[in-house]
Amino acid sequence: MVKAYARMFEDAGGIILQSEIKSIVPDGDGWRVMLSDGTMTTRHVVIALGPWSSDLLRPLGYHVPLAFERGYHREFKPNPARTLQRPIHDAEGSFLMTPMEQGIRITTGVELTDRDAPSSFAQLEAVVPLAHGVVEFGEAVGEPWRGSRPTLPDSLPMIGPAPRHGGLWLAFGNQHIGFTTGPATGAAIAAMIAGAAPSFEVGPFSPSRYLS
Ligand SMILES: Cc1cc2nc3c(=O)[nH]c(=O)nc-3n(C[C@H](O)[C@H](O)[C@H](O)COP(=O)(O)OP(=O)(O)OC[C@H]3O[C@@H](n4cnc5c(N)ncnc54)[C@H](O)[C@@H]3O)c2cc1C
Repeated sequence: MVKAYARMFEDAGGIILQSEIKSIVPDGDGWRVMLSDGTMTTRHVVIALGPWSSDLLRPLGYHVPLAFERGYHREFKPNPARTLQRPIHDAEGSFLMTPMEQGIRITTGVELTDRDAPSSFAQLEAVVPLAHGVVEFGEAVGEPWRGSRPTLPDSLPMIGPAPRHGGLWLAFGNQHIGFTTGPATGAAIAAMIAGAAPSFEVGPFSPSRYLS
């Protein structure tokens, strides 16, 4: 799906460059973007780096109160005699089981900790035996996966201009639902940069509710 979005962007004339951004520096009316393999200048910069968004903003004096709701999953070989046909949420056991191409995926609940703290597999280890009681499955496929959901105190994203810098736009903090709400966030930022009205009321998402 994300590859399809990328194709759509390129078909509309967009150019995709992949590089690590080291920092962004105000430069006249625009910005100098320092990359691991060069530099580029631009009129506008949109910070849409999910849980890493605050890293590039800190040197500009913005302290984003971002928390990290981490989550894990791991896949297991399905039992061919009794396959899982649909996702299951075991509310009492606090886990989900989903049939994926790679196997049966078991997900955990939220882990509240630092973004880069070492992994703790305690939740996975607690729920895998419970999942065995729902549908039999075989050994693990590959390693456990871990991700960080970027979450602000009011659970709303930041969508809009940075308070003190022209041409700097913030688009992150979509917490548990960013795969769903990310495209609308992008469309709203694009409208604001173009001086058009976004398709929804962006006031509640203003970065200035936390940043000055
Ligand atoms: C466990 C878990 C379960 C989730 N479940 C759902 C769900 O069911 N439904 C849903 O809608 N959403 C879900 N989400 C949320 C969703 O994944 C995120 O909200 C979404 O990925 C945010 O998209 P994004 O593009 O803003 O950021 P990200 O997807 O985090 O992308 C940020 C990108 O920036 C890159 N980056 C960071 N720093 C730099 C740098 N300095 N230079 C260059 N690149 C950089 C990173 O490598 C990354 O590719 C889940 C998230 C997690 C962790």
